[in-house]
Amino acid sequence: MTHIDNVIECKGALILGAGVAGLFTALKLAPFPSLVLAGARPGVSGSSAWAQGGIAAAVDPTDSWQAHAHDTIAAGAGLCDPRIAELVAQEAPARIEDLVQYGAPFDRRPDGSLAVGREAAHSAARIVHIAGDRAGAEITRTLAERAMEEPAITLLEGFHAVELALEDGRVVGLFARTGVGSGARLVLFRARAVIFATGGLGALYAVTTNPLESRGEGLGMAARAGAMIADPEFVQFHPTAIAIGRDPAPLATEALRGEGAMLVDENGLRFMPAIHKDAELAPRDVVARAIHREIVAGHKVFLDCREAIGAEFPKHFPTVYAACTSGGVDPVNEPIPVAPAAHYHMGGIASDDRGRCSIEGLWAVGECASTGLHGANRLASNSLLEALVFGTRAAEDIRASVALSVGRGTPPAPERFAAPPPPHLLRDAMTRLVGLERDAEGLAGALSVIGRLERAGGSEPALLNMMATAKLVAAGAFARTESRGAHCRTDYPSTDEVGRRTMMTLVDADRIAAQNAPSIRPLVSQAL
Ligand SMILES: Cc1cc2nc3c(=O)[nH]c(=O)nc-3n(C[C@H](O)[C@H](O)[C@H](O)COP(=O)(O)OP(=O)(O)OC[C@H]3O[C@@H](n4cnc5c(N)ncnc54)[C@H](O)[C@@H]3O)c2cc1C
Repeated sequence: MTHIDNVIECKGALILGAGVAGLFTALKLAPFPSLVLAGARPGVSGSSAWAQGGIAAAVDPTDSWQAHAHDTIAAGAGLCDPRIAELVAQEAPARIEDLVQYGAPFDRRPDGSLAVGREAAHSAARIVHIAGDRAGAEITRTLAERAMEEPAITLLEGFHAVELALEDGRVVGLFARTGVGSGARLVLFRARAVIFATGGLGALYAVTTNPLESRGEGLGMAARAGAMIADPEFVQFHPTAIAIGRDPAPLATEALRGEGAMLVDENGLRFMPAIHKDAELAPRDVVARAIHREIVAGHKVFLDCREAIGAEFPKHFPTVYAACTSGGVDPVNEPIPVAPAAHYHMGGIASDDRGRCSIEGLWAVGECASTGLHGANRLASNSLLEALVFGTRAAEDIRASVALSVGRGTPPAPERFAAPPPPHLLRDAMTRLVGLERDAEGLAGALSVIGRLERAGGSEPALLNMMATAKLVAAGAFARTESRGAHCRTDYPSTDEVGRRTMMTLVDADRIAAQNAPSIRPLVSQAL
């Protein structure tokens, strides 16, 4: 390890990430103290602030948690852990009530009950939403406001975490950088409980709906420390990112198709009815692959909202409307150009029903975790819910099992740290070779590219974290010789009779890379 400029002893838990998962966990921990560390400003940070559709929960009297669990398991294509799906669906209404108590302004019916919308592969209307498509922005703003008012929570932005601190195989804190250039400082935050709430990995792909801070670094850090990673190969591609040449690509929420918007080609012809009985409301992976194949075949694809939504568009979907018009598209009067984009990571740091990971002292919540809820394909609007349910459970576990320390040290005034962006070559290889359709040759090629970039990056820890995550995704995809849910192998199109989750360490991924991309020498977890 290079020179440590400062050591901060956290009194309670250390939470990395200030999206919904990190902020909600901190609020659930209070009055147990926590320090929330994030690269960007709490309240606008991570994918959370960008969520549009809302949160799935059986809050309507005509719905049931059993139906919610059933739909979740059906979408997961044989890989969900049914016990986890049931507990999440059962606890969902209570977590929505928590958000109401914190002040989240959910849309309501005239009688005051929660308004619910319908999304693909849900058998009932069960998505609670805010101001149409502003659920993520409003919930993160609300949680950030409550967290700032809570004396037990300290929020620190402008720190970029690079590595877990381990003693005797136990997590005892993490190293984070702040400042720029020669003024950059390395700070060791020591804590008895470290909670990763670091979000997804979409920005490792060239076409993504995720903010560019979603680079799988938390997963990479955990993997480099030896943590077990679950189902890394399962990346969900959103079918309808708005194709106006922007990085990241703005999203045309699934709720538009829920309202009746149709997918058409450049001649205005629908293609989904010939592919799936639920047409535009088929599971995400089916719709995304259908669009991908249309585009590969030389067609253009559009989401036509004119008839289903028309003049109501600006009022009901203000975020999508603003994105479209900023790109010169008027969705009231013309179809929206769309393309699939990397959107959500079903895989993640393997964690149990209390958010505990395979390394003592580390918990994971939200998108960076893999609890077994999503299986091979996430049901729409189940991800914010997973963050709420496991944030609560991790907080209960930590309050019951972790003793307070004597807090010591003052963090330096944080400055924004400019972490290196994911290399273009990596993003391109992930999109081309580890994307919607995969095969052995392409995946071996991707592992070669990752290995070369890993060596070229030297000991830069942020790059090593990103490369570790990319390698796990590609190696998991290489090892899964079947097609299931979001994972489509053109050389193995059938689905195995028995579904099995992938459980893999970075050492396993290095071995797969070394055996199948022969120019690669394994680069196992290095010290900085
Ligand atoms: C456009 C879009 C729309 C979506 N719509 C929905 C929806 O309607 N419903 C739904 O359920 N889900 C939706 N999702 C998915 C959902 O938003 C995410 O899964 C969820 O918000 C993840 O929350 P999180 O708290 O786990 O991570 P994030 O909100 O991504 O937060 C991650 C945090 O970790 C910090 N961080 C990461 N690495 C580091 C580091 N090295 N150092 C310091 N800080 C770090 C980031 O700065 C950030 O604060 C959508 C996603 C997108 C992109």
